[in-house]
Amino acid sequence: DSSLTQIRALIRAVADFPKAGVVFRDITPLLADAGGFARCVDALAEPWQGSGVQAVCGIESRGFIFGAALAQKLHAGFVPLRKPNKLPPPVVAVDYALEYGVDRLEARNDALRVGERALIVDDVLATGGTVAAARALVEKLGAQLVGASVVIELAALQGRARWQDDAPLHALLRY
Ligand code: IMP
Repeated sequence: DSSLTQIRALIRAVADFPKAGVVFRDITPLLADAGGFARCVDALAEPWQGSGVQAVCGIESRGFIFGAALAQKLHAGFVPLRKPNKLPPPVVAVDYALEYGVDRLEARNDALRVGERALIVDDVLATGGTVAAARALVEKLGAQLVGASVVIELAALQGRARWQDDAPLHALLRY
């Protein structure tokens, strides 16, 4: 697909960031390219057209960028899933393991209505812990999970194995 080829060409590989041995996928050249960003949002939206998504839940912080644009495209609302201590109480939280230590995602306790059709969005699927935590948070809020979309799946890290297959997880690009 020529559109996906163009999107892929706008993602920069940065060696040894944030630490030695890691290849960081930098999406900022994609964001800076008007046509590329628009095609990316179109491609993210495509599998969900007609699926009745009511809320797009973006994961802080790059998930906000893609998620907000996608929400507009799908005529849905946008819900930020945030890093700890950013939102005023009352919040609902899910803790998840990182390679070293733990992290947490939070949402307002009334961020989603019970049964509301929710889609999760982030830039990169790596080990899958972040998207799995987002899913747990959406479910804790009582919403109905429609699925998840990421721009990039780092296939070697097998994050998809941590995703329950009863809802689709779409990735535009695989590395
Ligand atoms: P996971 O929890 O290991 O799947 O990591 C996913 C989270 O880490 C996402 O929120 C990404 O934004 C971030 N992340 C991991 N690797 C990269 C990368 O190469 N580029 C940009 N973000 C990354």
